[in-house]
Amino acid sequence: MYSGPKVGVLALQGDVREHGAALSELGAHVVEVRTPEDLAGVDALVLPGGESTTMSLLLQSSGLFDPIADRLADGMPAFGTCAGMILLASEVVDGRPDQRSFAAIDIAVRRNAFGRQVDSFEAEVDVAGVGPVPAVFIRAPFVERAGAGVEVLAEVDGHPVVCRSGPVLVASFHPELSGDLRLHELFLGGWEI
Ligand code: GLN
Repeated sequence: MYSGPKVGVLALQGDVREHGAALSELGAHVVEVRTPEDLAGVDALVLPGGESTTMSLLLQSSGLFDPIADRLADGMPAFGTCAGMILLASEVVDGRPDQRSFAAIDIAVRRNAFGRQVDSFEAEVDVAGVGPVPAVFIRAPFVERAGAGVEVLAEVDGHPVVCRSGPVLVASFHPELSGDLRLHELFLGGWEI
């Protein structure tokens, strides 16, 4: 029935359904991940947009934080959008003191970085190797520091908004809300055999 890989979507909070729809359209077998058992069966994980502080708390209460951290340390491919990007970062600037992140990509991410007046906006963002994509930013973070092994694939006003490090891809915006599947395709193409 499914031709593609088993891709988990972290389904504790946020725009889970939209990611699932984009991935299914590309032929992936989508699994909503709510428990460590769900996680065990997936080849890769997408961390959606939503609220990173809430997701951080739910990751701990669901018992998913440590198993996900272990899989990421073993090289599980992951794609984080907006709050998901914050969860994958090595450093969170302006986070809640008790907020945890996976340090799967060596970036410092500032939460709600575009400021109050433009806390939500749409723009066209030129992504290296992909081209211009429509991008929906909702109280979006940007990258303040990218480590040596991190490729910056797109910037807005000089701030990195799409980065990649090995099989880990992150975007400040919400490709799952634009109907353009190319960033999901970029993610799957980075590791799918
Ligand atoms: N500002 C949110 C956070 O800190 C992210 C917003 C989003 O995912 N749209 O988690």
